[in-house]
Amino acid sequence: MSAAESGDVARVVERAADIRRRIAELTDRRVALVAVTKSHPAGAWELAAAAGCDAIAENYAQELAAKAAVARTSLPVHFIGRIQSNKVRSVSGVVDVWQSVDRASVAAEIARRAPGATVFVQVNLTGEPTKGGCAPEEAGRLVASMRATGLLVAGAMTLGPTEPSVPARRAAFRALTRIADDLGLAERSMGMSDDFEDAVAEGSTMVRVGSALFGPRVPDGTIDR
Ligand SMILES: *Cc1c(COP(=O)(O)O)cnc(C)c1O
Repeated sequence: MSAAESGDVARVVERAADIRRRIAELTDRRVALVAVTKSHPAGAWELAAAAGCDAIAENYAQELAAKAAVARTSLPVHFIGRIQSNKVRSVSGVVDVWQSVDRASVAAEIARRAPGATVFVQVNLTGEPTKGGCAPEEAGRLVASMRATGLLVAGAMTLGPTEPSVPARRAAFRALTRIADDLGLAERSMGMSDDFEDAVAEGSTMVRVGSALFGPRVPDGTIDR
């Protein structure tokens, strides 16, 4: 490992410890730290493992497949991006948890390519059309249809509002906790670099953190190769 890489390790280890400390100040609950590695090279997977993160997460099927071809990770791999049914197959051998399932057609394709896979239902609680997720009133029916295909529905996932208003964030995160409770889903995946403390305060069991661990991403969010 080069000197630059060992410096990266120390920095990411320190940042992960800081995030864990901030979470511990808010709750005694165990909150998983999922390292979001999109737009960072495959080496970020190793950094995440070295920093004691619980999982890594990727947003784009093509980027995930490219990294998986050159790197291995001991951590579970979560998929957190918008996915088309026709991309499911390309990553079904690599993904351990599908967090961003928001339509029955995608769930059916996951059930076909990865029978019994662990999935979360993504719910859009802000009404922002740029964000994925089913409408809150559809979540129950979608979860039932996912279960009917044999998928293991283990959690609910959401993105907080883009508008950085604390009350709006809190309301969205509180709503996800309520939906997860109503549907018997143990995991509530919510909270990112800028809002994980509000999410933890409202019941998050899993935060998805990218830039606070690895630094800023390139603007278009895709990997440069
Ligand atoms: C990019 C992304 C994250 C992490 O965002 P940061 O602000 O870098 O922590 C978390 N969840 C999803 C769905 C994302 O797309």
